[in-house]
Amino acid sequence: MLLTAALGSALITGVAGGTAAAAADSATPASIVAAAPTPTSASEPDAVTEAPVAPWKPPAAGTAAGTPRKVKPRPIAPVKAKAKTQAATTGWVNPNPSGRVTSCYGQRWGRLHAGVDIAGPHGSPILAAGSGVVVRAGDAQGYGLAVLVDHGNGYLTHYGHLSAIAVHEGQRVEAGEQIGDEGSTGHSTGPHLHFEVHQGLYKNPIEPTAWLRERGVPVPGCD
Ligand SMILES: [Zn+2]
Repeated sequence: MLLTAALGSALITGVAGGTAAAAADSATPASIVAAAPTPTSASEPDAVTEAPVAPWKPPAAGTAAGTPRKVKPRPIAPVKAKAKTQAATTGWVNPNPSGRVTSCYGQRWGRLHAGVDIAGPHGSPILAAGSGVVVRAGDAQGYGLAVLVDHGNGYLTHYGHLSAIAVHEGQRVEAGEQIGDEGSTGHSTGPHLHFEVHQGLYKNPIEPTAWLRERGVPVPGCD
C-alpha cells in the first residue's frame, strides 16, 4: 500500500513536470526530444523495474529444466531504449524543424546553391544544429542577417535570411538553442532558412542534408 502510494505520487509529479516542460519549450526540438521521453519514462519505471524482478527470480528458485524458456522475451525493450538514447545523445537537431525543404544543395541557375532551403512560417525559431561558438552574426550581404557557428569538430554551419538574430559573435550555443528567427533578408524570394555546412573552413560547403542524416537528423527532400 505504502509503495503504491509513493509510486502514484511519483507518477503524477513526473507527468506534470513533463507536460510543463513540453509546453514551455514547444518550439524547441531539442527540448521536445528531451521532454518527450519524460511522460513515457514516468509510466515505464514500473514495467522496467518489475520486468527484471519477475524473470530473474524463477531461475534462482526453480529447477534448471523449467526456467530457461521464461527468460526469452527480453530483446524488445532494449531496442526501444537504445533508439531513445541515440536521439537524446546525438547532439544534433534540425535547424528549422517546422519547415520543409524547398531547394536542395547543388547547381541552380548556373551557379552553386551552397546550402539547403528549409521553409516554414515567417518568424519560426531557427536553431543551432549543434553546440559550438558563434563566429559571425550580422548582415552578410546576399545572406541577409546570418549566423555562422563553428562546432569545433571540423565543421561550421551557416544560417541565412534570418529576420532577427538572437546571438552575438563569441557566444557559445548548445544544440537546439534558438539563434534567430526565420525571415527573408538578403537575396531571398520568401521566408525560409538557407542552411549551409562547411567542412574545415568557411566557404568550403558540402551537401548539408546527408551531413545531418549522418548525425541522426533526417531532413527529407534531397535524397
Ligand atoms: Zn538557399
